[in-house]
Amino acid sequence: MDGRIIVVGFGPGAFEHITERARTAIQESDVIIGYNTYVDLIRGLLTTQDIVRTGMTEEVSRAQKAVDLAASGKTVAVISSGDAGVYGMAGLVYEVLIERGWHQGDNPAVEVIPGISAINSCAALLGAPIMHDACTISLSDHLTPWEVIERRIEAAAAADFVIALYNPKSGRRTRQIAETQRIVLKYRPPETPVGLVKSAYRDRQHVVRTNLGEMLTHDIGMLTTVIIGNASTFYYDDLMVTPRGYQRKYTLNTAEQRLRPGERLRPENEPWSLNAATQSEHNSTQSPVGPSTSTPAKDQSPRAFAEAALRRLSGTVQGAIPQTPRAATVPAAIFEVAVSPGVANKKFTSAQLVLLAQLAGEGGELEYTTAHQLILRTMTTEAEEVVATLREHHLTVLPVGDVIKVKACDFCDGEKFEGIPYAQDIANRLAGLSVEKELRIGFNGCAMACYGAVNEDIGLVFRKGKFDLFLGGKTTGRNAAPGTRVAEGIPAEEVPDLMERIIARYREDAFPGERFHKFFQRVGEIEGFVHQDRPAIVIADSVCGS
Ligand code: SF4
Repeated sequence: MDGRIIVVGFGPGAFEHITERARTAIQESDVIIGYNTYVDLIRGLLTTQDIVRTGMTEEVSRAQKAVDLAASGKTVAVISSGDAGVYGMAGLVYEVLIERGWHQGDNPAVEVIPGISAINSCAALLGAPIMHDACTISLSDHLTPWEVIERRIEAAAAADFVIALYNPKSGRRTRQIAETQRIVLKYRPPETPVGLVKSAYRDRQHVVRTNLGEMLTHDIGMLTTVIIGNASTFYYDDLMVTPRGYQRKYTLNTAEQRLRPGERLRPENEPWSLNAATQSEHNSTQSPVGPSTSTPAKDQSPRAFAEAALRRLSGTVQGAIPQTPRAATVPAAIFEVAVSPGVANKKFTSAQLVLLAQLAGEGGELEYTTAHQLILRTMTTEAEEVVATLREHHLTVLPVGDVIKVKACDFCDGEKFEGIPYAQDIANRLAGLSVEKELRIGFNGCAMACYGAVNEDIGLVFRKGKFDLFLGGKTTGRNAAPGTRVAEGIPAEEVPDLMERIIARYREDAFPGERFHKFFQRVGEIEGFVHQDRPAIVIADSVCGS
């Protein structure tokens, strides 16, 4: 007798989110098999079908019962909420059949009907948080070793995936979500948006918009799905949105686009693409001067993140759990942070220097940089404690890498103090913000400009209560050049807001890896300040003619 198993995903729970095929499958079935709660959720669709309902943790017996009944000629619907193929019953039904030597075409026939999974339904309630690469991770370690789950969280966090956590917490499993937060915080700031959605599209639906640092202060349970944003995710009017990246190439607030349709797929207009990287590598190996190298420059593309994540996972395959001791799975890592005595203050106290030496320890180091900062590198698992200790000792602590650095003079040892509050305000607002490429804001307290503010990406020179503004300095290289003086006499109180707008434009519209001076040249205008080409260079023949 030919029987059938229809594995039905019926979505989040509301009838209007059940697909037409799922409804007809339920109607045409002789038997409905499901977890008690799921049967109750679709009770309004049931007519004369026999019902087999069981409790939690009885999935295997449900699958076995379905196979037995279908083998006897019944049409059996095995129901799952969400999608039956995502942590649902589809895989288990196939595994039970395979154990019995079943092959495709044998009795019973199997059909899997897709449904809306929690990552989709919860995302829709939050806004659009999974517009870019995302993954789902179940925190239930009843069937999966915690070490495996931990590695997946680490890899997903390092690779900047939006992460949807299923089964985040239950009465007895309370530590897993805290461990997950700890791991993700190693890679993302506490302000990272996090959405908590409980019982999506059911009677007791509850949506919380919070962030990574504060998520544990809210109620999280078995019916909650946790969606952690990536590095680009933001809130707008309570909407959680992850940009896909259109802003890199398109102008979103005007009909006029800076690239014509035919230009949009050229490698030079998408320098982040694999084709552009290959072209660049090819060019470098073809270069007649200098050593050829295939080592790419520091690459922060999503692809590089993903490859780094894969390297972390290399050597682990399903079922083969590394035998390293638990403590070794979260080793002490080199923690790197920029430290200075303050924006205007250039003097470390002896107590601060002693503290820095202690924190560096024997394996660490301190490096003095051209940005008026010391880089502290230390082996630690307690990065937050290190930062807190530094701040307790009145040190300014900022991230390193491609961030904004405010590089002020010492205001003649504080004697020319008028500009200091503005420098401090700008530093408070902008220092440490991530940008496509390191950006230095030079701030000098008088027209002498002895600390060279005009040579930085953006220069501010305080003069008689007002500011001169320089944009687009090329800070390094054989063709280094000061910024263009685009304005004189800007009222001092307008400058912090103006700087915020300039930086916001750069953060929004810069291509990946694009330095500020190149960005200014490409866009041609920022906040009404127009880019001016530098004077042409005269190339004189050398005496020897070479
Ligand atoms: S730029 Fe002016 S205020 Fe600042 S240290 Fe030099 S001379 Fe003093």
